[in-house]
Amino acid sequence: MAARAARAARARRDVYWFGDGVADGSKEDKELLGGKGANLAEMSRMGLPVPPGFTITTEVCTDFLAEKGVFSASVRKQVAAALVKVERSIGKKFADADDPLLVSVRSGARVSMPGMMDTVLNLGLNHKTVEGLAAKSGNRRFAWDAYRRFVQMYSDVVLGVGAVDGELHDPFTMALEALKNRVGVEEDTELSAADLERLVGEFKRIVFDRTGEPFPDDPQEQLWGAIEAVFRSWNNDRAIAYRQMEGISSSWGTAVSVVAMVYGNLGKTSGTGVAFTRDPATGEKRFYGEYLIDAQGEDVVAGIRTPLPIASLEKTLPKAWRELQRIQKLLEKHYRDMQDLEFTIQEGRLYMLQCRSGKRTGFAAVQIATDMVREKLITRDEALLRVDPEGLNQLLRPVFDPKELDVARAKGRLLTKGLNAGPGAATGRIVFSPEAAERRAAEHPEPVILARIETSPEDIKGMQASVGILTARGGMTSHAALVARQMGLVCVAGAGEIEIDYARRCMTAGGRVIEEGEWVSLDGNTGEVYQGLVNTQPSAVIEHLFAAETKPARKATKHAPATGIVKAFLTLMKWADEVRELGVRTNADQPDQCETAIAFGAEGIGLTRTEHMFFGDEKIEAVREMILAEDQEAREEALARILPLQREDFEGIFMEMGQRPVTIRTLDPPLHEFLPMEEEAQRELAKAMGVPFKRLHAKVEYLSELNPMLGHRGCRLGIAHPEITRCQVRALFEAACRVAKRTGRKPRPEVMIPLVGTVRELELQAMVVREEAAAVCKRLEIDIPYLLGTMIELPRACLVADKIAAVADFFSFGTNDLTQTTYGISRDDAGKFIPAYMENEIFDHDPFAQLDQVGVGRLMHIACHEGRQVKPDLKLGICGEHGGDPSSIDFCHRLGLEYVSCSPYRVPIARLAAAQAALRHGPKGGDVEDRRRSTATRGLRH
Ligand code: PEP
Ligand code: MG
Repeated sequence: MAARAARAARARRDVYWFGDGVADGSKEDKELLGGKGANLAEMSRMGLPVPPGFTITTEVCTDFLAEKGVFSASVRKQVAAALVKVERSIGKKFADADDPLLVSVRSGARVSMPGMMDTVLNLGLNHKTVEGLAAKSGNRRFAWDAYRRFVQMYSDVVLGVGAVDGELHDPFTMALEALKNRVGVEEDTELSAADLERLVGEFKRIVFDRTGEPFPDDPQEQLWGAIEAVFRSWNNDRAIAYRQMEGISSSWGTAVSVVAMVYGNLGKTSGTGVAFTRDPATGEKRFYGEYLIDAQGEDVVAGIRTPLPIASLEKTLPKAWRELQRIQKLLEKHYRDMQDLEFTIQEGRLYMLQCRSGKRTGFAAVQIATDMVREKLITRDEALLRVDPEGLNQLLRPVFDPKELDVARAKGRLLTKGLNAGPGAATGRIVFSPEAAERRAAEHPEPVILARIETSPEDIKGMQASVGILTARGGMTSHAALVARQMGLVCVAGAGEIEIDYARRCMTAGGRVIEEGEWVSLDGNTGEVYQGLVNTQPSAVIEHLFAAETKPARKATKHAPATGIVKAFLTLMKWADEVRELGVRTNADQPDQCETAIAFGAEGIGLTRTEHMFFGDEKIEAVREMILAEDQEAREEALARILPLQREDFEGIFMEMGQRPVTIRTLDPPLHEFLPMEEEAQRELAKAMGVPFKRLHAKVEYLSELNPMLGHRGCRLGIAHPEITRCQVRALFEAACRVAKRTGRKPRPEVMIPLVGTVRELELQAMVVREEAAAVCKRLEIDIPYLLGTMIELPRACLVADKIAAVADFFSFGTNDLTQTTYGISRDDAGKFIPAYMENEIFDHDPFAQLDQVGVGRLMHIACHEGRQVKPDLKLGICGEHGGDPSSIDFCHRLGLEYVSCSPYRVPIARLAAAQAALRHGPKGGDVEDRRRSTATRGLRH
């Protein structure tokens, strides 16, 4: 057994060669060789000018990290053999004092993690080899420049000598700057060979002072030190943070590529640069990039010198330019995607050091994908899979001017970071009360940002008057987050570090006090909050979509046909609709939200939260009267006031939605969102209701719940007071009849009962709905066909889904509550500790934003499966916030749901995500259980 294992270990190839037009690996080997290693191999196979080298696999990395820093003898042997091969290819020897081979040691994971891990250049230099390099190149300055770079990088990456507390820069940068001052020069390139030689001595002294050890002179020791350091950099803080952000598994490891050095710092005919085959910001088809003459790679990235635009290379080094043009075209065609290239020119000769699929903005992703289909480089389906659905946010919302944002960051204006609850960019003057928001918006032309500890329905008008909402408390499905998303507002929620002082009308954030009226900017895509004004740019797609809305009044003003990015967006959406199987509906409570959602392509409403329709002064008072009514009579009175208001709202919604299905949910007010908590509000309400303040106050106290999210909400309210459900159903059907009479087209209502946990609850509410609907239709002499269903948002409902299905026409998964109740985590308080759960890798992501497929998903699977066994044509949908999240949509496709429903601005994202799910998994309803089992065996937590 042991012998076989030893043989297998011996047989494993740990080191892959590339160079001289051949390679052991290829672009298909990213898992083993990392993106960089795989693409160096591929470029070598293509016959492109790649310096020779070898890649040590990710398997060696994971073994090394698991075995606490030991390399097997086999790995050491394979590296030594590969190094000899490089020596032969180049015709120089490693550690040779007369003509040394130098190498770079580069990291490269399976997916690119730009700048997260470490690289060492010019490795192999010491006091002897530097003289050989100087003599052989005939350029003493170059040799010492290479040496000082090597000592600097090696000391940082391998020996860990960097800035210590209180130092602005690492000691090497400081020594370099001090030397330039002493000598009186501005640029590094102006330093002489003697200056650099002195600098190397100084660097080595710094290393000795800080580490107590001399800088290593033995090239072999340097090589293994660098390989180890690169492997260890897989677990540095930056890399871990990046992995968490991007959902990259910690088990992948990085590969290391050891590559023969080519020199961009050999004088005026040498240089180095980075380039993209298309513009990564806009997607425009133009070669884009920058370079520096007489420089090495890190100079371009580090921003020490200002690089030149790539187009000017045509004049400075025309031969290398022509070769670069040939290669960039070849590579894009070969990889069939936009490439990000790294190159070095050594004395006029071009070398390719890296290529990979280029990172791009949402704009560029859409533009490039559609352009490449037109150019017949990729298919429609590939194009759909190339665009990250979340990236569409950039096209649908205002965005910050990127340069201004850079300045804000550089000047330390970042105040704090919260949850990215409502995407987009907003800048405005900050206020701390909804009244102030309304007042300021009415009196000043400048936009307003409303900051609250948390929001409540009373804040709605203030929210409406604002361009952005900032809260100190609350999670991704808190009131502020839900409402802001539905209204299309930018929102940063649960920014726990800010302290808001309502009385003094100011907040403290990032150690600074921000007074009411100051400019603040919110980045709803990242959750970042900045002090001061950062200008925004409007969305061209939105401007087009809303100008082209199909209302007759607006038709006359219909503007010019779509061009540029708008055209690309519309094309992509059309393709998505051709492919997807899931329907996409919207969560909307107001006619204007319906209008927005339809413009975005919504096919119906999946959830109207009727309690949201009561936001606003007059309506909220009526609801409060109803909630606080002492007896049925008083409640009926309040309901009589509510009826016409509600009917009017329903009419508005039906008019907008035409013959699209409209799911209307009966009242589900978590009471804490509706009770007047402040004394002043209670006094006003007592006056309006004609009851003594004390009595009303006592009633508020009585109704106040310790755990309102699990309190007297959902259908429990309608069970205790059926007249509430009855009133809503009457309003709904009267509205439907009126609209049918007015337009000649019947609306398609779907009545939905919330928070059902037992079939009896649904039966009782269904009885009320059926009776009242029949009564209205009879009285108004119109038959309105409708569906009657329930939300599935409690674990118990999933477990007794067969019983519930017997009474319901449809299920709609309320995954906000289902997540809350499955985990037992309050959705309103989750923001406080979810970051700690993510840091500790308990959660890969916020389960209120991205569905927990393993746990909550399993309950959904049970509900679907058992519900459909009883009723094969049971309609299934989802209306929790997860209905707009791409990975959750993918799951819904596999689960075989009919539709997903999400806030209006997420509709395009859902359309694309649904298309991607169809392309990835084939027809809807593939076996989720298989997938669950395979996730479990992959050793994921939960
Ligand atoms: C849900 O719980 O997922 C849902 C849609 O209902 P609400 O967010 O209104 O509780
Ligand atoms: Mg719910």
